[in-house]
Amino acid sequence: MKKQISLHVKCPHCRKSLMDDEVMLHDNPSIKLNIVTPEERGTIHLCSIYECYDHQIDVELKKGTVVDFYCPKCNKEMLVKDECAVCGAPMVSFVLRVGGKVSICSRHGCPNHYIAFQDLSAELSKFYHEYEP
Ligand SMILES: [Zn+2]
Ligand SMILES: [Zn+2]
Repeated sequence: MKKQISLHVKCPHCRKSLMDDEVMLHDNPSIKLNIVTPEERGTIHLCSIYECYDHQIDVELKKGTVVDFYCPKCNKEMLVKDECAVCGAPMVSFVLRVGGKVSICSRHGCPNHYIAFQDLSAELSKFYHEYEP
């Protein structure tokens, strides 16, 4: 079985953790974000396991909707640096606790996402060290 990496992410603005212990997904704290769609506002909890797309959402979201993500702590919009190479929607970035960043596509249903480290080998060894049982 592939090793599952649970990501701990922080807001790029206020540097507070976005992890929510009250909503667990696959036995890990979820990543909580406020979202704004063309129709309404809501909250999304993303599974923190890398390459897992499970999530809980309290508003109705049509597939293909581009969503704005906001920090639930400081209410600033998440950083957008790139466009999705798959669908052209903005890519939203979060800061990883261990360094580097993770980017996800803001279009609901688009699977594009990636992790970018300044120094991949060092960060990955930190990862595995940190999550060693
Ligand atoms: Zn914040
Ligand atoms: Zn996309």
